[in-house]
Amino acid sequence: MEYTVTPHHKFHFNHGDVAIHSAPDSEGKATAYRVNKAVLALNSTVFADMFTLPDADGLHEMDDGVPVVVVTDSEEELSALMQALYEPHTLFSCRFDPETPIRLTPVMKLANKYEMDTIRERAVEAVCRDWPETFEQWARINAEIHSLIDRTPEAAAAVRFARDFNIPSILPAAYYALAHSDRNWHWDSRNVFGNQWRYVRYTRWELLDAIDYKVVLCLRSMLVGKLSNVVSQYTGETNSIPVGPLTVCPSTHSESHATCATGLAEILQRWKENELDLGSMLAEAEGPNPLGLLDQLHRMHTTAEMCGGCKTRLGRHITMYQIALWEQVVLMTETFQEEVQ
Ligand SMILES: [Zn+2]
Repeated sequence: MEYTVTPHHKFHFNHGDVAIHSAPDSEGKATAYRVNKAVLALNSTVFADMFTLPDADGLHEMDDGVPVVVVTDSEEELSALMQALYEPHTLFSCRFDPETPIRLTPVMKLANKYEMDTIRERAVEAVCRDWPETFEQWARINAEIHSLIDRTPEAAAAVRFARDFNIPSILPAAYYALAHSDRNWHWDSRNVFGNQWRYVRYTRWELLDAIDYKVVLCLRSMLVGKLSNVVSQYTGETNSIPVGPLTVCPSTHSESHATCATGLAEILQRWKENELDLGSMLAEAEGPNPLGLLDQLHRMHTTAEMCGGCKTRLGRHITMYQIALWEQVVLMTETFQEEVQ
């Protein structure tokens, strides 16, 4: 097929000593990159081997005085790769950017193909940084995201990236996010609704496959059960705190015991009034988020002063509960992973 070759507007350097020609697009237009053998060879064992062969296939052709390598990769893929090689700061350093997995997908594809281990590692790291592996990381990232309205990682793209490139460590967090995302908030509608709905989690639902949907649905029904456990645990009819150690104030001052009990009752009451209604309302609309609901309980303050021991116990109890929940999310995701393999 006849095609025309146009120099890339950016990655076509006078000092380049090798030309890379992309595959032609549907209109028969290919793109030429003029770059440095040393940079390619340093990052890629495939290119390093190619350049050491005296008369390697594809290097006979010349373009403006330098040898040409014709590849089967698209302009989009090669441009992403050149950006990774020549402008890594623009590609790898954005945190909580919903575009990160999308932008790094062509980079990963070519990094695997040309055996560019460092580039691959940086791309994986850039995606993993936004998705927690442990509950402690989840809590930290969750707190940071709340303060950055427009910079929330997008879970469906992360799931696609994780499954396409075998990075299972980010799946529990991404599936958890999907399990409490409203399926009506589609990624494409984020500009339609404008700033009014900036807090909503928009999702690229079309990137998920049947297995992903199965995980999300199973996770969602498990979390609905957990949500009602969370509620009854702290506001059950029989006892407002059915947790042994929490009911006993460790303070040596006897008058403190009553104050602590009042403080705790007040916290639970306020949580129930402020968050629980909202929590169950959101669970209906979006999906259950027991970790988030427990986070709200953790942040509740009281006017009646509780002793340090009681505050610590309550905080620790909530965290333990959250960690147990997190582990169940991880376990469920892993079970599905095993099924897929
Ligand atoms: Zn106390």
